[in-house]
Amino acid sequence: MAKKAARKNAPAAAAKKVAVKKPAAAKARAGKAGKHVYFFGNGKADGDRTMKDLLGGKGSGLAEMTNAGLPVPPGFTISTPVCTIYYKEKAHIPAAIDTEIADHLKKLEKAAGAQLGSTDNPLLVSVRSGAKFSMPGMMDTILNLGLNDKSVEGLKSRTQNGRFAFDSYRRFMQMFGSVVLEIPKSAFEHEFDGVKASRGAKLDTDLDEAALREVVERYKGVVKKKSGKPFPQDPMEQLKAARDAVFRSWMNPRAQEYRRIYDIPDHIGTAVNVQMMVFGNTGDRSGTGVGFTRNPATGKKEFYGEFLINAQGEDVVAGVRTPQPITQLEQVMPAAYKQLRDITTRLEKHYKDIQDFEFTIQDEKLYMLQTRSGKRTGHAAVVIATDLAAEKLVTPKEAVLLVDPESLNQLLAPGFDQNEWKKIPVATKGLPASPGAASGQVVFSADHAVEWTQQGKQVILVRRETVPDDIHGMFVSQGILTATGGMTSHAAVVGRQMGKPSIVGAGGIEVDEAGKQFHVSGKTVREGDWISFDGLSGEVKLARVASKPSEILQVINGQLKAADSDIYQRFDRILGWADKFRRMGIRANADLPDQAEIAYAFGARGIGLCRTEHMFFGEGRIPVVQKMILADNEADRRKALDELLPLQREDFYGVFKAMKGSPVTIRTIDPPLHEFLPKREELMVEIVRLEMAGNKKKELDEKRTLLARVEQLHEFNPMLGHRGVRLGITYPEITEMQTRAIIEAACRLNKEGLKIVPEIMIPLVGHVKELKDQKAVVDRVAAETMQAQGIKIKYLVGTMIEVPRGAMTADQVAEEAQFFSFGTNDLTQLTFGFSRDDVGKFLRIYQEKKILDKDPFATIDTEGVGAVVRTGVNLGRKARPDLKIGVCGEHGGDPASIHFFEKVGLDYVSASPYRIPVARLAAAQAALAVKVGD
Ligand code: PEP
Ligand code: MG
Repeated sequence: MAKKAARKNAPAAAAKKVAVKKPAAAKARAGKAGKHVYFFGNGKADGDRTMKDLLGGKGSGLAEMTNAGLPVPPGFTISTPVCTIYYKEKAHIPAAIDTEIADHLKKLEKAAGAQLGSTDNPLLVSVRSGAKFSMPGMMDTILNLGLNDKSVEGLKSRTQNGRFAFDSYRRFMQMFGSVVLEIPKSAFEHEFDGVKASRGAKLDTDLDEAALREVVERYKGVVKKKSGKPFPQDPMEQLKAARDAVFRSWMNPRAQEYRRIYDIPDHIGTAVNVQMMVFGNTGDRSGTGVGFTRNPATGKKEFYGEFLINAQGEDVVAGVRTPQPITQLEQVMPAAYKQLRDITTRLEKHYKDIQDFEFTIQDEKLYMLQTRSGKRTGHAAVVIATDLAAEKLVTPKEAVLLVDPESLNQLLAPGFDQNEWKKIPVATKGLPASPGAASGQVVFSADHAVEWTQQGKQVILVRRETVPDDIHGMFVSQGILTATGGMTSHAAVVGRQMGKPSIVGAGGIEVDEAGKQFHVSGKTVREGDWISFDGLSGEVKLARVASKPSEILQVINGQLKAADSDIYQRFDRILGWADKFRRMGIRANADLPDQAEIAYAFGARGIGLCRTEHMFFGEGRIPVVQKMILADNEADRRKALDELLPLQREDFYGVFKAMKGSPVTIRTIDPPLHEFLPKREELMVEIVRLEMAGNKKKELDEKRTLLARVEQLHEFNPMLGHRGVRLGITYPEITEMQTRAIIEAACRLNKEGLKIVPEIMIPLVGHVKELKDQKAVVDRVAAETMQAQGIKIKYLVGTMIEVPRGAMTADQVAEEAQFFSFGTNDLTQLTFGFSRDDVGKFLRIYQEKKILDKDPFATIDTEGVGAVVRTGVNLGRKARPDLKIGVCGEHGGDPASIHFFEKVGLDYVSASPYRIPVARLAAAQAALAVKVGD
């Protein structure tokens, strides 16, 4: 299963020194009992930044900005527990909460100096979702609520702008109609286009008041026809319906899919923000925009974003009109621009992180509508964290908390081979929304992207623009290319967050989604054709292009000097800081010397698991291994083992050396022996072929012997069969050979001056006597070997804890074991009773039915498997307080699991070489967040 992209970790570091006024109610974290609605306005808010759980990201940001005296339109937040109540009460809100909302509305009317539904001074509000974790575009929003046939006239007379009043009304009807009444958008678009055509208008802005009045009348017809009822004129009824629609949108399929991908729990719910509308669409002195205090794609310190003149918020993010870069605002409205820069700089200092903000300018007056920590690419995360530290805005400890460990993987992703890339002409250029090299076959729908990927193809999703429903297709694609939209359009925001190379607004391509093709520079590209693009430069090319390792990997591989790579130096700096704050050690699962070297270069200081059997697959070794397996007596088996001994010794020597004296745990043979033999069916086919060819008696006899042995070794449940310690017990000569090879390699290195303390690990132990049996073999052979080598070295004998019985009797096992390593792959398999190899067949359904939130083979199941681990740790340490305990299952490289291992007090985690950076950072964040033993 694909590793889940982790959500952005909320920076845990709390601001100590604030650049803006300190929130009055900073201790109100959990909110007041019985209170469900929180007001903000007139420089004071009930909430603050610490109340994200309750108010959602948007609500807490609005409260914090209000408290800081920033220009925020007043409003109130209906807190997240109300969403839970809504679902619990089967889509009903209790009367007491309705009353609380009505009271807050009165307060809002007072603050705004206007009344909802008033004919002469109407208050209009926005109703927007806002969960704890941002879920861009996944839930619903309604703007201009409060308009009806009467209040629209009030708005006209108040603003002296009939065009604006009716434009707002038709927008509201369209949004309310599609979101609340669930009428297809196309029904409204059809009428809108009809009016445009009848007036010969090209742009929406070409329509005058009379035309917009006609649109409104036509929309009323659409609503009546499709919903069977007239458009609701009662503003309170509008408000309740909009609120409920936002709560409903929490459970829409795309929001659920988004939460599944980003590991956001379903139960937390969304808040609803009701806020006085300010208008970016009153004319050319108004506008709206979104931006970031730094570039979220590259991390560069530059004011970044876009705006549209005479528009409302949804026009920018929808990617329908291509907006102007935010820096151009300086020319159009210098005073508002300066104030915006000022405010956002203060916000960045206050929050100690890059801010993603939304604003509206109404008749040259600036309003802030949102601020939150900006989503960023892995590359940008590292650049921003190191820059903020260099600017002394954050301490190294805070910088470590600013980078999502999982996002470091993006820095290891390959780029194009520049020589190859330069040879191919540029077909077109778009906006570089998310960096990275993408090469794949073109598909035009998210469903096709998923289907093709399941067939093992590599795809690029090409769309005119993406919509939130495309999320599943975006997730599996190599990259995303859109023809319209700006740097903050849906495709850009989501692409960056997923770390997917993305190019948006590639105006040179003309997408024909229905015809499954696009045209660019006189050429036609059809579904299945290969294209490539560079998400950093925005260049698109019509060919498949080979890629090459990332800059960081080039440094790790020694192809590039660290001094020549800015990003490597920053990456190294962050991880260096992380090392200072972590408690657990970081080891690698590496089987061969070259893997060990990479792991060491990535910062692993030790091997937590060397799967010796992987060495058996080395060139020319399989025949020797097969000879050992085929032997039907001990003497022949020993002869084959004698041949393997020098090969294993060389491997161990290499691995020890690569780790430069850091501890190395070597596990004795684990898998069932049939894994080293050919498949039964393949052998049968071979035999028939040889029989038909005739004259091949010798070969035929060999194959028949092999088949007989394969059949003899056949097991119904090999994972529960003759493997692990059971092999060592039945064939002690294998353990003997492996011990000898390990100790000889270690003796040689000790003689050469490198102090090596090998750790010999016995797998799959469920009973202490199994370990005792093997320990006796190891100790005997180690003593003999050391004597023969004329040197005495220290070594440890320990065991994997991967059978539940081993964990439940860990006190007995610890009497024999000098260390434990939790094999959480097998432990998960055996605790759940889910076969590791077959779980894929039903896991997805388990997740869809919410039986399991997460894949327990990727993220530790803390309640069940985790409880077994905890028991194993506690019992083991009770019997042997200095017992060294680690984990070497796949979970050792998973940030959420690392968090759990920190809690239970493991000494180290062991992860595959390329996940070492993730593990180093996750271990530091866990240590900073967790108290051992919690
Ligand atoms: C484990 O079971 O967690 C483990 C590391 O061993 P393997 O994956 O080799 O069975
Ligand atoms: Mg195992």
